[in-house]
Amino acid sequence: MNRFTKEIDKILEYIQSNDDKFLVSSHVSPDGDNIGSSLSIYSFLKKLGKDVVYVLDDEYPKNLSFLYDENIKMTSKDIDQKEKYTVIALDAGDYSRICVDDKILENAKGIICIDHHITNGDYGFLKYVDTEESSTCELVYNIIMRYECITDNKIIDENIATYLYTGLITDTGNFQYSNTRESSFIMAAELMSRGAKKNLIVEKLFQNNSVNFYKLLGEALNGLEIIQSQICIIAVAKESMDKYEVEYGDIDAITPYTRDIEGVELGIFVKEKEIGEIKVSFRSKNYVDCSKLASEFSGGGHKRAAGCTIKDLDVELAKKMLIEKAIGYLK
Ligand code: AMP
Ligand code: MN
Ligand code: MN
Repeated sequence: MNRFTKEIDKILEYIQSNDDKFLVSSHVSPDGDNIGSSLSIYSFLKKLGKDVVYVLDDEYPKNLSFLYDENIKMTSKDIDQKEKYTVIALDAGDYSRICVDDKILENAKGIICIDHHITNGDYGFLKYVDTEESSTCELVYNIIMRYECITDNKIIDENIATYLYTGLITDTGNFQYSNTRESSFIMAAELMSRGAKKNLIVEKLFQNNSVNFYKLLGEALNGLEIIQSQICIIAVAKESMDKYEVEYGDIDAITPYTRDIEGVELGIFVKEKEIGEIKVSFRSKNYVDCSKLASEFSGGGHKRAAGCTIKDLDVELAKKMLIEKAIGYLK
């Protein structure tokens, strides 16, 4: 029995017994887990005959274009902003991460929060927050499986299985990270039996880099710095992305390189999204609490993976500030 069965049942009961207008929302800078969980809960609600829209105002990640469905995704501008939606927020550790127009949120009937971030800001009139689960997709999988069990009605088809598998594989780093548990493998096996397109997902996510990305990667790796043998920091300035014609959204694959070096405990990847806006990713191997470190810069996330945004600093100054704080986390 899942220790959150009560929360799951409350959400299922609410969805089944209310004819609300549901709005599935993404978080800012959506990733595989966010897109996967949003698309699967959207499809689930559609299968239940619910009135539901999926809103994503941020840029859709290019590497996930194989999941893109123009009939599903809308922006806040495309929908009736005066409507009182019941917002379903997925994978958003904080209210401020919900990427929907403020007016829609202010007007909303309420928020249902489904999330696995340790820094979850405790919002929503219904919540299913389990910080031990690998991914929000694992939570959505538990919700749908519970529904299937109660109603004896099969919901997970090839598409939903593919959405869910995408989030599982991205948030567990291909089943490598410490958030990968027995339940993750059981879920993967079940999804494959339902037709998840595993080989397509692997190809699109891990075997699809452009040649220019490799050139930029080479430059980035050449510039890496090691601090006190345990921290690795890599920075990519906007100028380099422009030089190699690589988009900001296409360089996340550099993040793991910062951590995956012998002896390094903490990896820091600094991306200059635009002048004056720097996005930082933290990754740790064994003991540094990345979510704590990120929260010192008003960010958040998980123990082994977290992020933050730094405004109004150039790359060098941001790096200096990050290194100063990060050193304090070393043993
Ligand atoms: P990333 O480094 O962008 O892959 O993010 C790693 C984890 O940290 C993800 O679970 C994100 O949801 C979370 N995260 C990233 N940036 C932020 C932020 N600015 N505020 C809160 N959480 C974040
Ligand atoms: Mn996410
Ligand atoms: Mn996630």
